[in-house]
Amino acid sequence: NRQLRLAKRPVGRIDDTTWEITTEPIPEPGTGEFVVRIQYVSLDPAMRGWLNDVPSYIPPVGIGEVMRAHAVGTVCASQHDSYPVGATVAGMFGACEYALSDGRLVTLVDTDLAPAPTWLGALGFPGMTAYFGITDVGRTKPGDTVLISGAAGAVGSIAGQIASLMGCRVIGIAGGPEKCSWLTEELGFDATIDYRAGSVGRALHEAAPEGIDVYFDNVGGDILNSALAVLRTHARVVLCGAISGYNATTPPPGPSRYLSLLVNRSSMTGFIIFDYLKRFPEAQAALGNWIRRGDLITREQIETGGIEAFGTTLNMLFDGANTGKLVLAM
Ligand code: NDP
Repeated sequence: NRQLRLAKRPVGRIDDTTWEITTEPIPEPGTGEFVVRIQYVSLDPAMRGWLNDVPSYIPPVGIGEVMRAHAVGTVCASQHDSYPVGATVAGMFGACEYALSDGRLVTLVDTDLAPAPTWLGALGFPGMTAYFGITDVGRTKPGDTVLISGAAGAVGSIAGQIASLMGCRVIGIAGGPEKCSWLTEELGFDATIDYRAGSVGRALHEAAPEGIDVYFDNVGGDILNSALAVLRTHARVVLCGAISGYNATTPPPGPSRYLSLLVNRSSMTGFIIFDYLKRFPEAQAALGNWIRRGDLITREQIETGGIEAFGTTLNMLFDGANTGKLVLAM
């Protein structure tokens, strides 16, 4: 059983010196426990934050600890009635090949509804984040104009489709022409902006001449600043993430256009999806129905290479090298 452990806290971008791989015997389940053979590990931008020794919404991963990761796999040994051998399960099992669990925060996965990797994407934390970010935090209503950054990623691609299904006009910001045409041609976004191709500010004025009601922000930085310039009265800014700054070694400058919130009586609200754990069944039911009806397109990008490839695969998120949910096959 190999595990990926934190060897050294990174400064800036993670590299090979960040990790060490250790080998231990496969664990044996005690009473009320089971062992999972991990099949897919989720790669999340938040992981970069979990490596910093600073106060946050969750303690940092300690030096020498197995890297925290959401994963899905099959129960291969069990002394737990609810998780029999053969069941597919998702949970915070960590970046390892076999994990011991007592069932806390573990979900039984219905592979008839969607394949296992989708339970790390649209039916996992990214889908939950998209759902509650749009509905609860963004208070999105039919007819709203909704702008989404990081729109071709795991959270953004689902958030945009939910807004579209709710009857909103949806504009996505993503890097590159392939991602942008996927959003409009397959996911039903109404317009897109390729932020690598030119001025986002100018493109926003063209795509949303009357402004936006909801901005679902995954990236922060200059794109957030440009979005603030086109808020309508009573607009809601959903602060989901700010990936453009996660590898920064000095704090990024604040958005100079923040007074737009005042002028437009708007709000900017941050949220952490862990606060919604009790309501996951509600989101999973809604997303599951859309998937069953063929109304929601889910996409995972599955990378191979096992545990050795964890670091290089994680860095793909910061290079925009993923479309949809990035997953590592173990
Ligand atoms: P994604 O699948 O969206 O992957 C990250 C994407 O971000 C890349 O594909 C890339 O797309 C884009 N990106 C990377 N660097 C930059 C940059 N400098 N400027 C603009 N875009 C960039 O990841 P997730 O969907 O998993 O996460 C999206 C966001 O949601 C993250 O900020 C994450 O931290 C946040 N999050 C927050 C949660 C919460 O509880 N608040 C829970 C889960 C996620 P492109 O090619 O378009 O640049």
